[in-house]
Formats: sequence, C-alpha cells, structure tokens
Amino acid sequence: MASDWREDTAGTGAVYLPVGIPKAFQTLIDEAATPSSAAALSRQIVPSGEERDIKSGETADPLGESRYCVTPRLVHQYPNRVLLLTTGACLGYCRYCFRRTFTGRGIGFIGPGELAEVLDYLVANPAVQEILVSGGDPLVATDGELVELLSAIRRVRPDLLLRLCTRANVFAPERFTDSLVSRLRGLRPLWVIPHINHPAELGRAQTDSLRKLVDSGIPIQSQTVLLRGVNDSATTLADLFHRLVCLGVKPGYLFQCDLALGVSSFRVPLSEGMAIWRTLRELLSGLSLPEYAVDLPGGGGKFPLSVPALCDRIADSPERDVLAVHGLDGKVYTYPRT
Ligand SMILES: *Cc1c(COP(=O)(O)O)cnc(C)c1O
Repeated sequence: MASDWREDTAGTGAVYLPVGIPKAFQTLIDEAATPSSAAALSRQIVPSGEERDIKSGETADPLGESRYCVTPRLVHQYPNRVLLLTTGACLGYCRYCFRRTFTGRGIGFIGPGELAEVLDYLVANPAVQEILVSGGDPLVATDGELVELLSAIRRVRPDLLLRLCTRANVFAPERFTDSLVSRLRGLRPLWVIPHINHPAELGRAQTDSLRKLVDSGIPIQSQTVLLRGVNDSATTLADLFHRLVCLGVKPGYLFQCDLALGVSSFRVPLSEGMAIWRTLRELLSGLSLPEYAVDLPGGGGKFPLSVPALCDRIADSPERDVLAVHGLDGKVYTYPRT
C-alpha cells in the first residue's frame, strides 16, 4: 500500500508521510482487549486513502510555525519559551501528524552548526525560560546524542527548563532504561511530555516507563489529540485521564486536531469537541482534566476552548454587575463582578 500511495499523491496536493508502525505499538494492537480498542490504535498508525483527500482550509504549515522560526531548528512564538525541532524522524508516523511537511522527509538529528545557532540564540535571549525539545521525536536519537544535546543546552543556560516532548513512552517504552532515566534526572529542571491518546496505549511496558520516570522524580505532563474514531468519546477520555493521574502523570492538553493536509477524517468538529469536553468536565476532577485547546491556524497560537465550551452555562440576569451562571444543578447562581 505504502509505495502505491506515494505515486497516488502526485498532483493531489497531498503530502506523503512514511509508514512506520513501532513494534511496541503493534504489540498493543495485537493484545488489545477489544476489537474497538485495536481499531482505535491501528487507525492512528495505518495509512488510509483518506489522507489524499485535501479539504479547504488545510495547509502545509497549519500552525504558521515558519513565521516564528528564528533559526532553521528553533521556533520562538511565545515570549518565554521556544520549540526545538531536533529531528524530522519519528519512532512511528501518526497519520494525523500536523508537522507532516517536516517529519519523515529525511531531515536528520540536529548537527553541530545548527546547534551552535540554537545555543547562540538561547544565550542572546535570556527572556527565554523554557525549551520544548521536540521534532520529530527526540528519542529517535541515541542516548548519547540526546544527552549530549540536552547537556549542551544546559551548559549555556543552567537555568533553562527543559521539556522533552515524545511519543516514546507509547511507541518505544524500552527506550527509558535505568541508565537514560538517571541521565535525564541529572539534567533537571526537566519535564517529560508524552503524547498519549487512548487508554489501550497504557500497556505494561508503557506504564512501567511512566512509573520509572515518576519514581526517579521527573515530572510528567501528557498531551492528547482529540481524534475521530480513536478517542472521540467522553468516557474513553475520562478513562485515559484518570489512569494517567493514578500513574502520577498530569493530563496537560487535549488538542483540537489541526488543519494539516489530508487529516480531515480525524477531525472532530469544534462544536462536538466542546460537548465532549463539557461532559468530561462533569466526569473528572480538576486534577484529571486537561486544558482543551486549539492551535489557531496560521500562527495565532494556542487558544483555550474550555471557556467557550462553558459559555452556555452563563445565564441572563436582570441585575447588572453580577456574573450569573447555571450551577451543576441547573439553578442560577450569581457572583458580584466588582
Ligand atoms: C505549544 C507551543 C509552546 C508551548 O506552549 P505551552 O502553552 O506552554 O504548552 C511553545 N512554542 C510553540 C511554538 C508551541 O507550539
């Protein structure tokens, strides 16, 4: 399928994303407890002809990242934090990838010249307090390459908060060896930000990798993409987020699917996403609830959808200077504005 697919994309405007199904993920599919869990997993990683269907509004750079590139590898969009594109390679290729014009196109791990530019930028811009080490997946690199990269950043900016953004806890949990975890621990302050979409992604090995990080004192905040046919149900998401919190992982973001080329079959309409999130809000504690957000097309940045999702709870009130809200019991409650 994959090789035909590449030819079929000619002239359609579609972007070919390589096929990569990690062994650990295949095991999860094979061992899934139900056919619907197996389908939710395989849909994320097995290509489909729907990727050739480009919808209006979809673009090659949905987040407008090129607008904010300060070096070929560094995106500086928000005042105090930057995003580092360590490599174009991933451990597996998610079919809904929003960075699909960068990933899987043979762009290798950051070399010395590009790293020097990044380090110069970090030194020249002390207002930058955090760096998201992303890609691609930084865990594609060897332990030595990864630790050397992080150490080089640490040497020039001892204060910088490192965020390691990865799908390795799901795709290659064996990467988190005692040795790597202890080397990461030595690079603190460092958070691991795993991408996890479905409770069936938390198999034994995956759970062990998260537990190992937590036990070693490395904090974890997860991120999830809302995906049609994968996790577009409040009960599935509630199960995922509750399990993560039990492991010591704080659910960070639930992202609306971006307007990347050919991913429309994964997109849940905003109105439906908001309804799912409203239900989640009732099912989960504040601790377990992630921020539901959309990355605005063209470079507008992340925008929280939790407030708009709750707008219909705001009630009309004859009194001015009060905020009137429907409580969970449906009655109207007020709070003074001033
Ligand atoms: C998401 C993102 C960040 C981090 O934003 P947070 O809200 O702190 O998670 C930083 N830079 C870029 C370019 C991003 O897309």
